[in-house]
Amino acid sequence: MLDERRGRVFDVQKFSIHDGPGIRTTVFLKGCPLSCAWCCNPGGQQLAVLQVKDGVDPSIVHEDSWELTLDQLVDTCLQDLPFYEESGGGVTLSGGDPLVQTPFALALIARLRQAGVHTAIETTGHAPAPVFETLRAAADLVIMDVKHHDAAQHKRWTGVTNELCLANLAAAVAAGGDLLVRIPVVRGVNDTIEDARAFARLLGSVGVRQVQLMPFHQLGERKYELLDWPYRMTGVAPLHREDLDGFRDALEAGGVQVA
Ligand code: SF4
Repeated sequence: MLDERRGRVFDVQKFSIHDGPGIRTTVFLKGCPLSCAWCCNPGGQQLAVLQVKDGVDPSIVHEDSWELTLDQLVDTCLQDLPFYEESGGGVTLSGGDPLVQTPFALALIARLRQAGVHTAIETTGHAPAPVFETLRAAADLVIMDVKHHDAAQHKRWTGVTNELCLANLAAAVAAGGDLLVRIPVVRGVNDTIEDARAFARLLGSVGVRQVQLMPFHQLGERKYELLDWPYRMTGVAPLHREDLDGFRDALEAGGVQVA
């Protein structure tokens, strides 16, 4: 049974440098309330352990998830304590979305903070406000993606509308803690100059003044094939930093700086 002492994890990545400051361990918790068309960890979306196609190595599609006790996971994370201390790093709870296993995520954060480790969560914000607030307040840094400025398009591409995510984002801004907001920019989904202007208006309205841009890549494509799941981004060309110059300029012209 999953609770505050047992969690379901599909990967633990050491020496991460893209999930918050310094050198980090990123813990990928299974389960996500969204199902983004471009998700590069589709096997991590569902809390349940899925069947893979015959002959497929489950580790390739992240279906070799395992249940870990809190003690086991804390011990794994603390192995790299000297690296966190030296680099200003720590542990990031990602997924999936740690909101799906909130009791375990809270317990893990509490134990790590007791040990002096900086903690971050990567979350969609798609949860009832009290649940989101508990997790937000527990972590040192909150990382949130804003996937689309338009509610109907957000639902089309992620499976849910954006109201809940935005209300929780606004609450996180108002709370004043460390917050990193990112936009996954995906060709044909949200990558036009008009999209950038709409993002700027939306982000400005909830008080976000700075974002990071994450250009779309195709690293997840093979996992869909192996899971035998439909992949909606087949043939969509990846984006590179230089492709986003106009998008960035339009955001900045709208009052949102790009970090
Ligand atoms: S929020 Fe992240 S983990 Fe969840 S479906 Fe979207 S890309 Fe995948």
